[in-house]
Amino acid sequence: MNYGLVPDLREKTIQITQEMNIEVDVSYLIKEGYNGVSAHHFGFNKHGDIGSAIFVKDGLERHIIDFNFGHESIHAIRYLGLESQFLEFLRKKGFALNPFETFRDEEQIAHVGGLISLHNRLVIWFYSHPDFDSVKKALMDSRI
Ligand SMILES: [Zn+2]
Repeated sequence: MNYGLVPDLREKTIQITQEMNIEVDVSYLIKEGYNGVSAHHFGFNKHGDIGSAIFVKDGLERHIIDFNFGHESIHAIRYLGLESQFLEFLRKKGFALNPFETFRDEEQIAHVGGLISLHNRLVIWFYSHPDFDSVKKALMDSRI
């Protein structure tokens, strides 16, 4: 489920988990805003019902919000086991890259989702960052 833009990641996580009566570790969200944490995904399993929640901190620049939604969506896709559907989506978008085989690091895999968000808005060429530049090159080089 996509909870959209929220003012505080930690507060939102606590609110959702209390409403759903589930336990999720929020200790790593204590330092709000620290280390560039601006979005959050968590997966849960409530009596066999598997679900995923994503949300992004409000008040950021638009391209960061877009990137974050795409990035967190990949964490959700991974948690829910929807990798093959995402690969099919990538093919339809014209990319041959298989991020699940190409990258070992979960964050690099998730960056592909962030980059696809920027690509969908035709702004991918305007953004560069040491964290995702190698992923961006692999994605763009894989165009069919
Ligand atoms: Zn991530």
